[in-house]
Amino acid sequence: MTLLELADVTASYGPVRVLEGVSLSVPDGGAVGILGANGAGKTTTLRAICGTVRADGRITFDGRDLRGLRPDQVAALGIAHVPEGRGTLGRLSVLDNLRVGAYLRKDRKAVSADVEYCLDLFPQLRARLSSSAAALSGGEQQMLAVARAFLARPRLLLLDEASLGLAPGTAKTVYEAIGRLRRESGIAMLVVEQNANLAFTLVDTAVVLETGRTVLTGTAAELKGMDEIRRAYLGG
Ligand code: ATP
Repeated sequence: MTLLELADVTASYGPVRVLEGVSLSVPDGGAVGILGANGAGKTTTLRAICGTVRADGRITFDGRDLRGLRPDQVAALGIAHVPEGRGTLGRLSVLDNLRVGAYLRKDRKAVSADVEYCLDLFPQLRARLSSSAAALSGGEQQMLAVARAFLARPRLLLLDEASLGLAPGTAKTVYEAIGRLRRESGIAMLVVEQNANLAFTLVDTAVVLETGRTVLTGTAAELKGMDEIRRAYLGG
């Protein structure tokens, strides 16, 4: 079943059109990557879904039209966003950041169990529960951002450049944990990632954006086999 569908989505910042026709779909429980050069419109595509940028065209989630909804309404439908730059609340402790992620939930016992699950998924966070988020390393902040988004128990996670600024080993650790989260939770994922090699460890399919347009869609294996994808995104 298709969970999220974008068809011919357009969006602008003021007079400047940056999405010219983005189409993609994420199956329930599936993981889809968005590849593309700097400025291709990857981040804006996620913003159009979350309702932080106004968009035209068709954006549906579980059959429901998302256009015109406020970001909090989109979140309440089960879409969690881990923005580029992570968006953790620096002055709050790690534990409070996790609690903020779960603020819409009433099931306190299940929230506690999910906090425990996140600390098992990201053991580095356990030792830092009372540290302020601002005091964490970049990798720990990324782990916290993913854990916080998971605590909302979304049906779809939007992940923007989770590897940005991280050492290669740390980026790999973060992606392995996200892969485990995907397998164990069944949460669908839409993943923007500059590092296509990392993205392909997580996603089943990907779309390639070029100047605001979907120009290619394929399985990870198909895309990896294409010369132009290898040259542009896979370092060879
Ligand atoms: P990057 O990897 O550099 O973040 P991207 O593919 O995510 O690239 P977007 O961030 O979606 O691309 O940007 C698409 C275009 O929109 C770019 O030309 C960018 O300069 C422009 N843009 C992005 N944010 C804004 C904004 N808030 N106001 C005006 N223009 C913007």
